[in-house]
Parts: sequence; C-alpha cells; structure tokens
Amino acid sequence: MAWHCSGTSNVELVNNLSRNGIIKNDRVKQAMLGVDRANYSPHSPYQDCPQTIGFSATISAPHMHVTACEYLLPFLHPGSRVLDVGSGSGYLTHVFASLITDNSSPPTSSNGHVIGIEHIKGLVDLSRNNLNKSEDGRQFLECGKIKLVQGDGRLGYAEGGPYDAIHVGAAAATFHPQLIEQLKAPGRMFIPVDAANEGFRSFGRGLDQYIWVVNKKEDGTVTKEKIFGVSYVPLTDAPAHQ
Ligand code: SAH
Repeated sequence: MAWHCSGTSNVELVNNLSRNGIIKNDRVKQAMLGVDRANYSPHSPYQDCPQTIGFSATISAPHMHVTACEYLLPFLHPGSRVLDVGSGSGYLTHVFASLITDNSSPPTSSNGHVIGIEHIKGLVDLSRNNLNKSEDGRQFLECGKIKLVQGDGRLGYAEGGPYDAIHVGAAAATFHPQLIEQLKAPGRMFIPVDAANEGFRSFGRGLDQYIWVVNKKEDGTVTKEKIFGVSYVPLTDAPAHQ
C-alpha cells in the first residue's frame, strides 16, 4: 500500500491515501489536509513510510496515522480529551487537536484538549517547535488545547483525563492498566501490543505485534479487539542521559 500513496505534496499524499481507501472519512481527510507533514518530517515528508526525526525516533507512516484517526474518530469531537502516548514529532497530536476543534470559533482549552506525552526531552522540544511552524499549531499551544509533557507514557497522564480517546504510538509490552483506568466510559484506545506477551506469535509473517482497539463501554466494561499485525518501535524506559 505504501508505494501507491506517496505524493510530492501534502495534498497529493492525502488525496492518494483517500483514493486508495485508506482514508475513509472526510473529517480525517480535512484534518490531514490542514496539517503539513513537512513541518514534522525533515526528510521525504510525503512518502508513505516512517522517517527518522532524530533522537533514534521516527515519525510513523502516514497510513498508520490515518488508521489511528479512523479507529478513534467516533471519540474525537469538540469537548473530547485525548492522550497521545509517544507523541514524538507532534504530527498526530496536531491532527487530533484539529479533529476535536470546531472551526467556527477560536480554539480554547475548555472545549477538550490533547495531551502529547513523550519521554525524550529533545523530542518534546522538537514537537513544540514543529507545532509553532503553523498558525493553528501555535494557537493550539497558546490556548492550552495541546499540552506537551515529558514523562513515561505507559503510566498515562491522569491529570488530563479521563480520556475519550488514547492513542499509543509505540508497541506496548502489555495493556498498561493505568491507560485503561484513564479511559473514559465510553472511551476507546488504539494500541500496538507485543504479541509475545499475549501468549501467541505469528511465526512466518515476521509480525510480532498487533494493533488492538480497547473499548470501555458506558457501564465500564472493557473489551479488546485484535485488528492487524504491525511493526512499531517499542515503548521503553527513557534513556539514562538526555
Ligand atoms: N507518534 C509519533 C512518534 C512515533 S515513534 C509520530 O508519529 O511522530 C514512538 C515514540 O514513542 C518515540 O518518539 C519514542 O521516544 C516514544 N516513546 C517510547 N517509549 C516511551 C515511553 N515509555 N513514554 C513516552 N514516550 C515513549
């Protein structure tokens, strides 16, 4: 899928993702058209593959960003609280903020917010610089609609919750209980989980992680749905020196 969707501009990339059926919902398309990946990916921003962003980290591939938005979309509306774990470049944090913003009025933090949590300080700073490159990114930071924090995302960020939607951008060793606790009822989490810890492995396909959609229903019941195999960098301890 990757080679069909790449483009030479943000518009071309998004249109290709849409034409190939990766983007299904117009709200996702509009949000992605409004956030230029070149502000977040210093190399080949319009290629549909991950790119290095420094600090041994990558910005995820556009089709994975789309997939996360599509699955979380029913929980992304004005007023939603969103947690983006492993926010890295800040790209998806920005797209989520657009998806919970009603464009008819200036953004305010009182009508929902997105917390980007990242454990590498250099990346928190980088994402802040990236957001400041665009007018709406700058406004989101200024009014507190987007808050970037340095911390261990495996523990979530209880102060900003409970969350309508949680996105995890790196492979978790397990369904971290703090993240499930911080989900609102109803709420949804999109999380890649290492299959080794779930008691199964997909020998032969080379994929040992799966995307899971975790739903917390109104009555607090939690269900988990295994979606498809992926290859993400792991959620880890923070580097000792940074
Ligand atoms: N979603 C981002 C980054 C994806 S890469 C983007 O597309 O730009 C995964 C990110 O998770 C990296 O930036 C990495 O530093 C971060 N990360 C890894 N373990 C973490 C942890 N325990 N807590 C917070 N962030 C973590």
